[in-house]
This record gives sequence, structure tokens and C-alpha cells, in this order.
Amino acid sequence: MELDPRSLIVASVMSAALMGLVSVAFAHLRGEDRIIGTWGRAMLVLAAGLLALALRGAVADWISIALANSAIVAALVIAMHALRAFLGQRPRDALGWGLTAGLFVFLLVYSEIRPHYLPRILAVSAALILIAVRGALLLRRHAPAECRHSARFTEFIFWGVAAMTAARVVGVLLAEVQDPMASNLLNTATFLFYAGFILVTTLGVMWMEIETLQAGLVRAARIDSLTGLNNRGTFLQEFAREEARAARGGPAFSLAVFDLDRFKQVNDRYGHPAGDQVLRAFADVLRATIRPYDVVGRYGGEEFALLMPQTGKETATRIAERVRHELEGRGVTVAAKRIEVTVSAGVASYGVDGADWDALLSAADNALYVAKKAGRNRVQPAGVKSPA
Ligand code: GH3
Ligand code: MG
Ligand code: MG
Repeated sequence: MELDPRSLIVASVMSAALMGLVSVAFAHLRGEDRIIGTWGRAMLVLAAGLLALALRGAVADWISIALANSAIVAALVIAMHALRAFLGQRPRDALGWGLTAGLFVFLLVYSEIRPHYLPRILAVSAALILIAVRGALLLRRHAPAECRHSARFTEFIFWGVAAMTAARVVGVLLAEVQDPMASNLLNTATFLFYAGFILVTTLGVMWMEIETLQAGLVRAARIDSLTGLNNRGTFLQEFAREEARAARGGPAFSLAVFDLDRFKQVNDRYGHPAGDQVLRAFADVLRATIRPYDVVGRYGGEEFALLMPQTGKETATRIAERVRHELEGRGVTVAAKRIEVTVSAGVASYGVDGADWDALLSAADNALYVAKKAGRNRVQPAGVKSPA
């Protein structure tokens, strides 16, 4: 099947213009222009470049050759800006713009002064391959885990563009007819591929945006924004899972509840923002002290819960004690001032002190109350008489 390249280019003009308009409208409606708006502008420049390319013969050669191809390369440079912005990279790209300007001059020379197809196709292909490989590497190296599927997808397409363009160069070097507008298999395959590329990469970057948004929503719903720990809902889910496992005859587990000592005084003396900093510092202590399979959550204002799977009361008490000791040792530095903060904890174990959240929480809370009464800055296992 051999199609007319000019018709395929016109079809690409349509899809680039539509993708560009849809992207710009999408970015405008969202009121935020991180990637999609810039991507949309790149597609509009691409549509203009492709249109100039399709007008070969009807307009001056410097427009349909030099300007058209430089605009296409410029569109890809702008598209890279969008990717860079998305990945939190510096948007400046001297190499990309230098390449575009150099290509324009080069094409001008080889279309107006010494008209010759081969150097032109080689230069344009080299520029396209360079930009596509940079795009693929950018995504491979810098895409965050939260959009890894969509980033991989988009990366794969950029490798495809580089490979297709390289294949075209080889084909042109081998072919007898070196005419970009000839209806042959090579031109048909290349221009069909480019037309598809416009649609599929736009889909890829939109998917990247959506996947990132979705990850952010999930995080916001599951994580406490102040401390980065699990919020109450997530912690309770984890607890329910562990409880179900233990109820089916799985290993018993333990629960520790921590409550910062005299925290109201911290707020009163140093201010609420300093109090918040103390909460974050305690979250850091918890993260640094627990084992990888323990689950920790902030379940109240300055109350934290620690779920320790497959752990009896003695070990659980030791771990809670490690947390208490670590906080006491570290203290918290707020505005270059060290604040002494301590924490008390109560520890309860599945089976011994209760078999559901209410019962275990109440047992751990009672133990915590005993720890507070006994002078604070201590860990109290449930059902064991306080030594104080
Ligand atoms: P105790 O040793 O008996 O626990 O004394 P306490 O002062 O810590 O008493 P309590 O546990 O009742 O105090 C809770 C305080 O925690 C009250 C509230 O102002 C503070 N608090 C709760 N949530 C936050 C928060 O998000 N940020 C800050 N800065 N303070 C909070
Ligand atoms: Mg409290
Ligand atoms: Mg307290």
C-alpha cells in the first residue's frame, strides 16, 4: 500500500492542530499550565510547520523546506520544554534552540544556494533523532515513580521516533528516488508513523498528567499532610487487615499508642507552628526507629499509633521504649533553640488485651494513662502494674 505523502502530511496537520487546540483548551480550563498548555503550543507550531511542508511547490522553497522543517524541530524543542517543566527540570534549552537556528541556516543554504536533497534529509533527521533520544532519556532518568506507566509509554514512543527516523535515513540512502513527496513504501510508512506519533504522544503526556494527579489525590486521602505518616483512616485499614489475619489463626500483633507529654505547654510557650514542628520531628523519630514492616499512623492531634505485626508484648514494649528513648535523646530544635520533648506510650497485644480495635485501643489507652500518672516519659504495657 503506497499513499500520497502530501495527503498524509495534511492529515498530520489536522491531528497536530486538533491535539494542540484540545491541549491548550484543557490547560486553560484547568487554570494551570504545567505541561499540557506548553505541549499544546508545541503541537500548534508543529501543525504550522507541517502545513508549510505540505505546500511544497505552491510556496517558495525557503518556506516549504527551510522554514517548515525548522518549525517542526522547534515544535519538538517546545514539546521538550513541556516535559522538562513536568519533570521539574530547568526549562532553558540553548542546545535545542541553537540546533533549530543552525538547521534553518543549513536548509536555506541547501535549498536556495546549492539545492541538494540528501544533506537536507540527513540534517533534519539528525535533529529529530537527537531531540527524540533526549526526550526518551529525560523520561527514563527523571520520571517520578508516581507516573511511571505513562512516562514509560511516552519514552517508548520517543525511542520509536528515533528508530523510525533512522530507518528512513537508511532507506533514503539506499533508494534510487530521493524525493520526499514520492508515493513509495518508505515515505508512506514514515509519514503514517509521524501522524500516529502526534496522537499517541499527546495521549502519553495527558496520561502522565492524569497519573500524577491521581497519585496526588490518593496520597492526600491516605497520608497526614503535616507529618507524612498514615492518617487515621489508612491506619485503621491496616489494623483491620492485621486483625483479620490474626482472627483466622495468624500470628498475634501488638499496638502501641504514643501521646506527647505536656504538649499544650509546648504550644503555649513556643507557639503553634513550633508545636507542628515538634509533631513532624516525632514522626521522623518514629520512621527512623520502627522496623520496615511496622505500620505507624497519626490518629489524633498529637497521638500516634504503632501497629507491630507478629510481635508479642515484650518485644512491642521494647520497640516503643526505643522510640521514647530516641525522642528524649534527640530533642527538637526550633529556630535554633532546643526544646526538650518527651512522649509516653501504652502497649496492648492481640488476644491478651483484646481482639478488636476498640478493645485494644482502650487497653493501650489505659496503659498510657498509667504511664502519664506515673510521671510521663515512659512506656507502659497493658495489664502490667506500673513500677512507679
Ligand atoms: P499530657 O502530657 O497529659 O498528654 O499533656 P498534654 O498537654 O499533651 O495534653 P493533651 O494530650 O490533652 O494535649 C493535646 C494538645 O495537643 C492540645 C492541642 O493544642 C495540641 N494539638 C493537637 N493537634 C495539634 C496540631 O496539629 N498542632 C499543634 N501545634 N498542636 C496540636
Ligand atoms: Mg493527647
Ligand atoms: Mg499529650
